[in-house]
Amino acid sequence: VPVSEVTVRTSHDREIVDITVPIGEAVNAFAGEGLVCVSVPHCTCCVYVNENEDGLVEDILDTLQRVAGGAWRHDRIDSNAAAHIGASLIGNSVSLPLRGGRLVLGTWQRIMLVELDGPRRRTVHLTVLGA
Ligand code: ZN
Repeated sequence: VPVSEVTVRTSHDREIVDITVPIGEAVNAFAGEGLVCVSVPHCTCCVYVNENEDGLVEDILDTLQRVAGGAWRHDRIDSNAAAHIGASLIGNSVSLPLRGGRLVLGTWQRIMLVELDGPRRRTVHLTVLGA
């Protein structure tokens, strides 16, 4: 039975985790051509596809802090508005082509999960169409 969920345990308040390997292993069971949607059912984490280079990873966290950091209305009830706003800007899913059980990614592309209100246990859902 193909795996449809991957659990990621984050270990910091804010961090970016490369989840390409476990996602790739989970979709290996699908042999055909299709599309995989990688999504997170959370409001304070998000996913994107780009290079896993240490400087760039820090730059992306800094960018989210510059854009979304500060005092917001939601902080009156939850103290984590910046995390919600950052997650909304990046988005909670990415869709990728699947060819013969392999994700179609460029040489430097990785699937990155952004934790903005950790550490937490995060669930990544995989929805495969057509394979
Ligand atoms: Zn909140």
